[in-house]
Amino acid sequence: MEQSAFNQQLMGFLERSPTPYHAVAYMVKDLEQAGFRRLDESQPWRLESQQGYYVIRNDSALVAFRTGRHCPSEAGWRMMGAHTDSPCLRVKPQPEIREQGCLQLGVEVYGGALLNPWFDRDLSLAGRVTVETGEGGRRDALVDFRRPIAVIPSLAIHLDREANSNRSINAQTDLPPVAMLTAERPEQTLHDLLREQLHNEQPQLDVRQVLDFELSFYDAQPPSLVGLHEDFLSSARLDNLLSCWLGLRALLDSDDDQPVVTVFNDHEEVGSMTAEGAQGPFLASVLARWLSGEAYHRAMAASMMMSVDNAHAIHPSYADRHDARHGPVMNQGPVIKINNNQRYASNSRTGALFRQLSEQLGVPCQSFVVRSDMGCGSTIGPLTAGNLGVKTLDVGVPQWAMHSIRETAGTKDAQHLYQVLKRYFELPAIWQERP
Ligand SMILES: [Zn+2]
Repeated sequence: MEQSAFNQQLMGFLERSPTPYHAVAYMVKDLEQAGFRRLDESQPWRLESQQGYYVIRNDSALVAFRTGRHCPSEAGWRMMGAHTDSPCLRVKPQPEIREQGCLQLGVEVYGGALLNPWFDRDLSLAGRVTVETGEGGRRDALVDFRRPIAVIPSLAIHLDREANSNRSINAQTDLPPVAMLTAERPEQTLHDLLREQLHNEQPQLDVRQVLDFELSFYDAQPPSLVGLHEDFLSSARLDNLLSCWLGLRALLDSDDDQPVVTVFNDHEEVGSMTAEGAQGPFLASVLARWLSGEAYHRAMAASMMMSVDNAHAIHPSYADRHDARHGPVMNQGPVIKINNNQRYASNSRTGALFRQLSEQLGVPCQSFVVRSDMGCGSTIGPLTAGNLGVKTLDVGVPQWAMHSIRETAGTKDAQHLYQVLKRYFELPAIWQERP
């Protein structure tokens, strides 16, 4: 596929996935189209060979896999993992703040968000709502306003002369987005707005009342190609929906010989220790229902996990924040992430495999090591490796402005990583050596 068509598809996914719920729903649509069958965790499973399946937890995490022609206890699982969540502002349960003729909505910061870029943006709102239906039942529904419904206005520089040198942000008092003026609608609540929105999106749904919700603000500006020669792709949530998309496409596009498992966890940005997070039992429980006893342990020993999450590209104005020899450059290939204190799970064997595949495909590849005098971030890689005992690689495309409301990546790197992932999923043997 042409690079521009590939990036257009990626941008379509990014735009239509403002929350983990929407990302999972989008991926499920593609899986269904490709003939993957849904499994219910509360029902017995009977897996057939050369068949695709998927399992959802909390609407926000997904395991999609293909059984392949070969048994995993001989062939191993070719695994890939990424996360569906991104730092953002989440709406509080009783959010209405009425001040100075304005209705603001109280928010809680989700994850390690970079807060400055949230000001003066056209914000929309999306998430999951649980409603009581006419018959007294409970139903979940996704909502996405898809239009700018709020803004967090900056304070004018005239009212804060120190703004450029000394402004800090108080998440409690400075962040509540302004959604409307109250003069004509003094009593309007978020519940009213949600009922109206649900009616617009799903008129057939008989809503008696909104019982609860999980809603996130997001930037209404769609993704775009940026730069004189369109070297860059700018969007919200590149960390880490970009990686989710690459894993899903590689799964759908690779041939169905080998057992392949993809996991898209929620809650990476808040520590992963949840039912649908990488530190929880989701992936292990799916694999244990596929194989048990000795077959399971043999399969695990023959397997590999690629934990795919974006890396920090070197920033031309802040080059000293990188080790001079390990600063990933945009559009110069996927980045193998190495940390000997195991904040990343890569080792020389999994790294070598990735380097070899890249070379065979004629795709460039880079390495990242954090400066020795700075702390290192982490990913779902070490958590999954520690949970399952699987050989793991941490890899991802380079990007700028991680955890901003708008992030920037290169236009070439995503497709390059996709090519390597696809080849990895098709590998006849992962590990040739026998101890
Ligand atoms: Zn991430």
